[in-house]
Amino acid sequence: MSNRIIEGYNLYQKGSVDVKHYEDDHIIFEVKKNDTESYIVSMIYGYWNCDCADYVYRNQRQPGSFYCKHLQAAQFKLLDILKNKEGEL
Ligand SMILES: [Zn+2]
Repeated sequence: MSNRIIEGYNLYQKGSVDVKHYEDDHIIFEVKKNDTESYIVSMIYGYWNCDCADYVYRNQRQPGSFYCKHLQAAQFKLLDILKNKEGEL
């Protein structure tokens, strides 16, 4: 589990995470897999989701118990956004 946090952080550091939509309760991220493909990570009212096979498979077995590396990467990006918003206040 913890290695996915590191993998997610690396994705975030590489700039692989884009924010496609932002509202406080609804955020959509695009996490690049390579030059042509990417995964969509979304957060709706605190519920996180990713469309990668890793997440879909594991979340089915035990809903809500698993964070894939894309989801971790998106959360690092979210931290950035929230910090910037604080700066604006
Ligand atoms: Zn994923």
